[in-house]
Amino acid sequence: MSAASAKKTPADDAKPVKKRTCKKTEKTPKVETTADATSVKKRTCKKTEKTPKVETTADATSVKKRACKKATAKKTAAATPENASPSTLSPTERRRLADRVFATLAERYPNPSCALDHMSPFQLLVATILSAQCTDKRVNAVTPALFERFPTAEAFADAPVEAIEELIKSCGFYRAKAANIAQASRAIVERFGGSVPATLEELVQLPGVGRKTANVVLGNAFGIASGFVVDTHVLRLSRKIGLSDEETPEKVERDLNELVPQSDWVDGSHRLIYLGREYCVARRPQCDVCPLGAFCLKRP
Ligand code: SF4
Repeated sequence: MSAASAKKTPADDAKPVKKRTCKKTEKTPKVETTADATSVKKRTCKKTEKTPKVETTADATSVKKRACKKATAKKTAAATPENASPSTLSPTERRRLADRVFATLAERYPNPSCALDHMSPFQLLVATILSAQCTDKRVNAVTPALFERFPTAEAFADAPVEAIEELIKSCGFYRAKAANIAQASRAIVERFGGSVPATLEELVQLPGVGRKTANVVLGNAFGIASGFVVDTHVLRLSRKIGLSDEETPEKVERDLNELVPQSDWVDGSHRLIYLGREYCVARRPQCDVCPLGAFCLKRP
């Protein structure tokens, strides 16, 4: 029997039900089962309410103000800078925000530099491996004795790993870091004649070396801007200011590489790190005195 020829049953006609749906989110309308449909109106939005709320008041006019919560929240978010997300900004607006951020930071920090003490690309490589989950201050306290004992990649390659561990213990994760330093040193000696390679592709092949460490070494020891350095400060601040909506360092780096001119990648990452230390401290950001206070989106 076709749908067109189907006979209406008394039960069909007897349905005293009013249906309200959120068109954006529901394809199949929900059927109300209340007996007095004229006194009760229901509105549901699957994305925001798993269990539809049933109005019990007899005054139907009082319940007409219900709306899809998600749609309302979206409008509010777009209107308030505190809650705005980069997805609410056009590419042009995001680029303008980035221009403003890095121009302001350049005024505030005109001469940024790498905070890790080093005398060679190899020393910077070792210091950057040590800086994971550790402060630069702590690394700088440890490296003088470390580099005095093991001055070259060859010396590290020949060293017992326990001797390296002993000297870097206070940096945290010292067993893994010592193993990575020893293995990276051996690879540098065997494959690159004892010199740190100067390409991203070669650097990331070394044990314990990812894109962040490679970008640090290339930018600060070789003067090659291979990519924005995204450490924990830059990751957090990029999202907070509104420069990126991404959550992984690789994706945030990609966003920043697009927003910031290549000539600013090295200094720009230093400046964001300075800002994170001076004003935008994770638990107590000082927005009232921060140089970005006027236009930072201040996202949670
Ligand atoms: S301190 Fe406040 S205004 Fe400055 S970057 Fe952090 S969240 Fe933005």
